Amino acid sequence: MIQKIGVIAQEGTNPAFVEGAYLVVDNLIRSCGGENKYQVFQAPNATPFVSRIVRDGINGAILDKNRYNKEGYIQVNAEPIMDGLLNYSAAYPDTEFVLVMRDSIYAQNLNYFLGVNHKAMSRTGLLLSTTIISTGKNSPFELDGITFQSVLMHELGHRFGATDQQNRKPGELYNYPKMGTHCTTPGCIMNVMNSLDEGRVAAHRRATYCPGCLRAMKKEFSR
Ligand SMILES: [Zn+2]
Ligand SMILES: [Zn+2]
Repeated sequence: MIQKIGVIAQEGTNPAFVEGAYLVVDNLIRSCGGENKYQVFQAPNATPFVSRIVRDGINGAILDKNRYNKEGYIQVNAEPIMDGLLNYSAAYPDTEFVLVMRDSIYAQNLNYFLGVNHKAMSRTGLLLSTTIISTGKNSPFELDGITFQSVLMHELGHRFGATDQQNRKPGELYNYPKMGTHCTTPGCIMNVMNSLDEGRVAAHRRATYCPGCLRAMKKEFSR
């Protein structure tokens, strides 16, 4: 079975970021030899589906007014959005999504975040996955193109097994209490990022995957 990865976007997202996201996902899959297993597509006509799911996130945020319009910018609750995308994948297991959000996002245990890859087990025992990345438009977390690309590469690294224990040697990863496993190789794009500034600096240094992370993803793709 070929796993289809749909790149979708919140309405009003800068199309250059959406196109960029498509290229980053496609390029990663090809450079790790995963093109026989994964196929990336852009789904502009998924818009009604996406806007309904995003509206759930906005409704979830509006309940918490301080969050929704925090200091003049909109901050959307990503949890109902993740649930919506995972529910779709539970119904159609050969499809998962990478959602590019225009607005800034948050989750219950994180004040804000730039991107996330979330995996969950379906009721029928399938491992489901979804990835969300925010351009943080009109917020203090607004991303430039290079930082956006690097945040997305980081999340895709999680998606494709770069930081899974089963793909790595002992000592190559560190398990952070809230942030999960991350690569310990200095300068690797899969290092834990504690702040937007840290992410920006890493991105503009043109950080990429270390050999250990690349090996781990190739191993994952060849399974
Ligand atoms: Zn991470
Ligand atoms: Zn690494």
